[in-house]
Amino acid sequence: MTNKPLEIYLHIPFCVRKCAYCDFLSGSANGETMLRYTAALCQEIQLRKSEYQGRRISSIFFGGGTPSALPLGCIELLLKTITGRMELSPDCEITLEMNPGTAVKEKLAEYKKAGVNRLSIGLQSTNDEELCTLGRIHTYRQFQDTYETAREVGFANINVDLISAVPGQTKASFLDSLRKITQLTKPPEHISVYSLIIEEGTPFYQLYQDKPALFLSEEEDRDLYHETKALLNTFGYDRYEISNYAKPGFACRHNMGYWNRAEYLGFGIGAASLYKESRFFNSDILEDYLENPVGVRSTPEVLSKKDQMSEFMFLGLRLCKGVSKSEFQRIFGTTIRNVFEEAISKSIREKLMLETRDSFMLTDYGLDVSNYVMSRFLL
Ligand code: SF4
Repeated sequence: MTNKPLEIYLHIPFCVRKCAYCDFLSGSANGETMLRYTAALCQEIQLRKSEYQGRRISSIFFGGGTPSALPLGCIELLLKTITGRMELSPDCEITLEMNPGTAVKEKLAEYKKAGVNRLSIGLQSTNDEELCTLGRIHTYRQFQDTYETAREVGFANINVDLISAVPGQTKASFLDSLRKITQLTKPPEHISVYSLIIEEGTPFYQLYQDKPALFLSEEEDRDLYHETKALLNTFGYDRYEISNYAKPGFACRHNMGYWNRAEYLGFGIGAASLYKESRFFNSDILEDYLENPVGVRSTPEVLSKKDQMSEFMFLGLRLCKGVSKSEFQRIFGTTIRNVFEEAISKSIREKLMLETRDSFMLTDYGLDVSNYVMSRFLL
């Protein structure tokens, strides 16, 4: 048994219908396909035993898509398949992403009983007009019902997702969404706020070509970003990553693992794995996966030491606490400055980065242009 944590990700690619901004690997399907997919996932878990045998699982994440779109009983079956084969750490975080309007009380009770201990609810806005613009399947009232039911069945760790810069959104309506969430009876322990990204091939991409005035400018979006931090701070949430805010002790452990380069195994279509310093992916073709769930893997890309050092920097710099100098030295046997002197000095000079006794971190200004700063750490 090695103490190195191992994380598990399961991709559930089904949604009731596609949202107008979404380019995730997701789509609608009938109940029969979902049951076949669940069976294929169970098979993949069983057949990849050698990868997790002897390891302790620190977190499990059902992502999507909409995992709560699966028929009743599927999540329980998947968790039984996992717990029957893998050794979970006693405090294993088990998160399930869900959308309002897809999980009735019976399903929520099933998740709780099966061991899910964290819910991540996709709300995006409390304004029904904005929800309609986004192509969401639910209203704010439906979210409130789902949220209250989740609390009722005993979930004590809930994340709510919001989107800023929705077309037609004003600063006032965005801040109203944020405030409403923080003022729920027993507010969520965690809030994620993502700026809208206009992805090619989505209906929003066309809308942006046709009516660019509907969209917020970069400056307006940055303003909302700064307001988000200020407002959530007053309600006791700390920003611990570019888009993530949590009450003390409630940072998402699974995602912290990604940013700290913990090893993870991904199951299901399109799922990525980082294992023994190699990255590999499952095919994103559903029929191929249903046919042979372990025969659809890409050739593993072995990460060179340079790749690993670059990843350490640009994943770690997403975290507000930054990257640890001593941890880098422990892993790579050299210092961050030895490898990245130019990028570090330039970023500090330009006030994009700060240095403390044991870390380097992005400043607020650096976070505004994080992609630009991080590109300096590609070797
Ligand atoms: S619910 Fe999420 S994954 Fe599904 S279509 Fe909407 S944004 Fe995409």
